[in-house]
Amino acid sequence: MKRTKAEIKDIKNETHDVKTFRLAPEESIDFTPGQYCLVSIAGSSKHEGTEKPFTYASSPTADYVELTVKKIGEFTKALHELEVGDSLILDGPRGKSLNFDETIEEDVVFLAGGSGITPFMSAIRYAIRRNLENKMTLIFSNRTEEDIIYIEELDEVNRREGFRIVNTLTDSWPQDWKGETGYIDRAMLEKYVNEACKKIWYICGPPPMIDSMEKLLAEENVPGEKIRYEKWMIPGKYD
Ligand SMILES: Cc1cc2nc3c(=O)[nH]c(=O)nc-3n(C[C@H](O)[C@H](O)[C@H](O)COP(=O)(O)OP(=O)(O)OC[C@H]3O[C@@H](n4cnc5c(N)ncnc54)[C@H](O)[C@@H]3O)c2cc1C
Repeated sequence: MKRTKAEIKDIKNETHDVKTFRLAPEESIDFTPGQYCLVSIAGSSKHEGTEKPFTYASSPTADYVELTVKKIGEFTKALHELEVGDSLILDGPRGKSLNFDETIEEDVVFLAGGSGITPFMSAIRYAIRRNLENKMTLIFSNRTEEDIIYIEELDEVNRREGFRIVNTLTDSWPQDWKGETGYIDRAMLEKYVNEACKKIWYICGPPPMIDSMEKLLAEENVPGEKIRYEKWMIPGKYD
């Protein structure tokens, strides 16, 4: 684990409240898809001493690092105000609960809520880059179509053999919406996933979503050791 300064090289507006920062770290970061770092803003007196966790969303095979940040409070608002040429300090890599790499031979299912997509985007990008054989299904839950991060890239991923992307919208959807609607439930899981017990399941999103997904998977008799999850937004629970 190390701290490195990383200059912002590009900023992409993903949605109305989500931006992706493409960074050039001064030292290379040897992370596994699913890991995160603690981020602070270099040279910021207002936010000095503040560091918050964000997941590497890019593939570790890329020659840059990307963080995708949803604006929800003071620190993420400050991140959204940064410009190309500003720098962040990244302290990591950290975490192991959502790690994905070649040691996983099973097919995998990712259940993501909102910005909880970031660890799985890294895994999907990595699997494509490395031509891994695992079949990957992503069920991605958002409130509205406007909230779907990486919508175009996920559309392309969905056209690849071995990948299936299912979007579900919980609050409202356009008349011509072709995806699913409503919260992820047992019927939705059974529609898209056969032999649930043989898969490795990854869940990332707000705690209530994780809790309800765990219950669903228990009903499907998925053994606990095949379920990996990370609850975001629990203060002090990251290290
Ligand atoms: C391991 C880990 C990895 C993470 N990776 C990412 C990532 O890749 N991208 C990303 O955008 N976020 C990620 N997060 C969440 C991110 O760390 C928080 O959104 C951030 O710390 C909020 O800081 P803030 O000062 O802007 O908001 P705060 O002032 O801390 O929070 C403002 C309000 O939002 C609520 N809140 C806090 N976090 C969340 C949340 N995640 N969802 C909904 N409400 C929340 C709080 O309860 C509070 O009411 C990750 C969290 C963890 C634990």
